[in-house]
Amino acid sequence: MITIALSKGRIFEETLPLLKAAGITAAEDPESSRKLILSTNRDDVRLIIVRASDVPTYVQYGAADIGVAGKDVLYEHGGAGLYQPLDLNIARCRMMVAVRDDFDYEAAVRQGARLRVATKYVQTAREHFAAKGVHVDLIKLYGSMELGPLVGLSDVIVDLVSSGNTLKANHLKAVEHIADISSRLVVNQAALKLKRDVIQPMLDAFAGAIIK
Ligand code: ATP
Ligand code: MG
Repeated sequence: MITIALSKGRIFEETLPLLKAAGITAAEDPESSRKLILSTNRDDVRLIIVRASDVPTYVQYGAADIGVAGKDVLYEHGGAGLYQPLDLNIARCRMMVAVRDDFDYEAAVRQGARLRVATKYVQTAREHFAAKGVHVDLIKLYGSMELGPLVGLSDVIVDLVSSGNTLKANHLKAVEHIADISSRLVVNQAALKLKRDVIQPMLDAFAGAIIK
């Protein structure tokens, strides 16, 4: 049995065509089904639906053989035990630093001010500001980061941005680009060795279906 870990929403939707290329079709839609284990048209393949940030953990411990996870999530996880053979070029967005639109970020950095940074991505943020030589206090959040600067929780947020509409709607502006984000295929290292005859053809099919 091959178990593939996916998260609901954009990753599931954008992975469907890749699964199809590997001859795999989900028996149910996770948006309408409450099931967390979905069977597929193949007796030897099942899908599990987990939180986006939990995908690397399931694959690391071998509870899933394969998964699809954003680079944002992989960076925070650290990647231990994971083989990351393919950039799937899906769920693309950017990791950005953003502030209130009346906040002079350049001046604050120039003056060596200590910045309060609210984010879900503490590792990414820590590394980014350390590389710039900016001192920060990191405040861990689990969502709605845009609120931080509006209510005085933080000066700065580090968050994912795609269209920029959420920032705009909350009177925030992006001031620094940290990284381009897309999702990667992750594979449990032991599973790849033990089940290579089944997994390798899947990897080849995924690779052939990536839209550059
Ligand atoms: P949860 O909702 O469970 O807290 P999440 O918000 O990380 O998790 P999604 O919003 O489905 O879950 O995001 C899944 C992945 O998609 C992220 O890890 C990231 O790689 C990517 N992503 C997030 N936001 C965007 C976006 N606005 N546009 C494109 N890709 C995005
Ligand atoms: Mg989200």
